[in-house]
Amino acid sequence: MKVLVINSGSSSIKYQLIDMTDESVMVSGLVERIGEEQGVLTSKTFPGTDREVKTKLEQPIPTHSEGLQLSIDLICTGENAVCTMDEIDVVGHRVVAGGEKFNHPVIITEDMWPDLTETERLAPLHNPANLGGAKDATKLFPNVPQVLVFDTAFHQTMPPHAYMYALPYEYYEEDHIRRYGAHGTSHKYVANECASLMDKKVEDMNLITIHMGNGASISAVKNGLCVDTSMGLTPLEGLVMGTRSGDVDPAVHNYLAVNRGLDIAAIDNILHKESGLKGLCGMNDMRDIHAAIEKGDERAQLALDVQTYRTRKYIGSYMAVLGSVDAIVFTAGIGENDDIVRAETFKGMEPFGMKIDTEINATRSKEARKISTEDSAVAIWVIPTNEELAIAREAMMLAK
Ligand code: ADP
Repeated sequence: MKVLVINSGSSSIKYQLIDMTDESVMVSGLVERIGEEQGVLTSKTFPGTDREVKTKLEQPIPTHSEGLQLSIDLICTGENAVCTMDEIDVVGHRVVAGGEKFNHPVIITEDMWPDLTETERLAPLHNPANLGGAKDATKLFPNVPQVLVFDTAFHQTMPPHAYMYALPYEYYEEDHIRRYGAHGTSHKYVANECASLMDKKVEDMNLITIHMGNGASISAVKNGLCVDTSMGLTPLEGLVMGTRSGDVDPAVHNYLAVNRGLDIAAIDNILHKESGLKGLCGMNDMRDIHAAIEKGDERAQLALDVQTYRTRKYIGSYMAVLGSVDAIVFTAGIGENDDIVRAETFKGMEPFGMKIDTEINATRSKEARKISTEDSAVAIWVIPTNEELAIAREAMMLAK
């Protein structure tokens, strides 16, 4: 079975064709600068193998539909084609927000569109593009199941006391304001991977999963189900991120408006794009921050301290939420690569049975690995995330 996974963004389309017999990636591609003067399509067939072929096309790509068509042409026709269109069995789409209705993946049917369109207001920057990709793919592959996999779905098992804000209740009823979380596909994937690496059933485990890239979130997973997560109505809440503030006093809006004369749009922009690590020290890439710390940059040190302290605080609160914790998993760009952030995050946590093996933690690898000591009561893991594979598995399961 071959699954085409599509992540259609506001100005780009990422895609992978995965052969589910061995879960190998047959094609991995990226269409960028859609709608700009010059679009770019880069693609690799059989990436990372001795059959790898790289392709780069530069030409105007006015619309997402044309971008997708170009990608399919590359996969199915021409000298580096890997299969015919008929051989693609399922198409899986990443969708950022599913709201309360879409708490699991679905195969698109015509009657779903009103409800799907309704989700767009929950993620106005992402959902229209995600769903637009699904519409385009439906036209290209009218007889192939189109599966939508929602980033929020994994978090739909949160109980009301975790997802409700203490706001007037009608805002929940009428405006659907509540906590939805994000990165759910990744949290679920690494939770399941961790269980299988520890030779346990995820239903028998309590986990804390930390997805830490440019965006960052942390989830409490009880018996395999998400019971709390740090992102909220939008992906702004929670941990300190590259340019996003994470948690702040909500009164900061009024304070900035009064003291600086900023309007809501400007404040929103600051919290999303000028805050987080970048706001604290001017840099949003952890690699640059470490290099600056080496040179004695105190603001860079402060940014690292605020970031790791916030994560530690969340770990502590999720220990209280879960009662007992079997394993903690780090994933995504920082989580997978940054041993300093991992070590700093767990500073002082030894009395709670969380001990990092300094040597293993410092070893670089692309593989999943346990970084806690043998006598650590809680296992601490680094597990590379693979959202495309997770989507492909969900899509295949539903379409089979
Ligand atoms: P996203 O998908 O949210 O854009 P990623 O998961 O790709 O982000 O993570 C990107 C971030 O990961 C970078 O901004 C950088 O801070 C961090 N990162 C990537 N590689 C390394 C590394 N080798 N060491 C430390 N941090 C890294």
